[in-house]
Amino acid sequence: MKNIEQTLQQLVLTSNFRVLPEDSSALDVVDLSTNDYLGLAADTKLKQEYLDGLSVENFVPTSSASRLLSVHQHAYSRMEALLERLYGRPALLFNSGYHANTGLVSALGSRSTLMVADRLVHASIIDGMKLSGARFERYRHNDYAHLESILTRLAGDFSRVVIISEAVFSMDGDRADIDRLVELKRRYANTLLYIDEAHSIGVCGPAGLGLTVASSHRDDVDIMVGTFGKALASVGAFAVMSPRMKQFMVNRARSLIFSTMLPPAVVDWSYMTLTRALEMDDARSRLTALSGTLSRIIASYTGRQGLESHIQPLVVGDAAAALKLSERLGEAGYKVLAIRTPTVQPGTERLRFSLSAALTPESLAGLVSALGHARR
Ligand code: PMP
Repeated sequence: MKNIEQTLQQLVLTSNFRVLPEDSSALDVVDLSTNDYLGLAADTKLKQEYLDGLSVENFVPTSSASRLLSVHQHAYSRMEALLERLYGRPALLFNSGYHANTGLVSALGSRSTLMVADRLVHASIIDGMKLSGARFERYRHNDYAHLESILTRLAGDFSRVVIISEAVFSMDGDRADIDRLVELKRRYANTLLYIDEAHSIGVCGPAGLGLTVASSHRDDVDIMVGTFGKALASVGAFAVMSPRMKQFMVNRARSLIFSTMLPPAVVDWSYMTLTRALEMDDARSRLTALSGTLSRIIASYTGRQGLESHIQPLVVGDAAAALKLSERLGEAGYKVLAIRTPTVQPGTERLRFSLSAALTPESLAGLVSALGHARR
């Protein structure tokens, strides 16, 4: 326990100590911390439709086993068939984005693999790379010249190379250039491209299918991961890939093989939210307009032009100061989370603003003065 005590004390000293929050779902605040980008989680009509379709006979609350052993397959194969129609390639479901990334990335690597990931990729990708036993390198965020210099220096020494990026970055809200990544991947032999679209599914690209789909080289993205837990208001994840890659993953992705699969009841709900999200171009337009409004508000505080995205950071650079700012905004009726290490690198602690199409421009109006007061 001695080391554990020291760790806890150190976390408190550096303002990085975390506690589980109280339920705040009933609080009357403007929620700028959600990943429910389309506002689907509060869609009462859709929820009613889901409930109306349930009966004791068709409600399956558990898969009771790994996907490979479960007697229930209908909900999974129905969902994968829908995804295959949408993406034009086979899809494979996972219990969460965390399961997808750890399972897929770790299966892709061995000691003779080089993995090169953007410095800001999600922890689940880093854990997957560590589990794989591959050599892994990080390139500076969205810096493809740096990525290329790593490839030029090292790719020849490995039998496989995997380039990994997010499409929209979870804590920064900016985007990868999928075409540039495809172009780089093509120049190096035996190189695969892996894109995590957790924060773009539902929001970006045609019908909200993500940034990869918007690229003319979409099939050159060897594995594209999407999640159901954010804009799609459910839980779980999927990955799109070639038929042979899917067979490989069914045999090698340990998070798929060794974990009880999502309940069919949840996958049926995801099916409804995904189907609904495809038609939500109006919500996506509203989100774009709100992104512009938020960007101007944040710029009026920082004095710098910001990004127009459904995720926008306000980098404070200090954990205690970020917590304080978050607290002050909370008192003014805005829920905005402080993001600290290890989620972001030390010195880049920030507030992460995220938007939902369910918000109105008026609901953001008070944010200008709330930020002004918080500064004092
Ligand atoms: N990838 C990214 C980029 C994420 O931001 C997250 C969640 N924060 C995940 C994967 C994990 O997804 P899930 O929450 O479904 O496990």
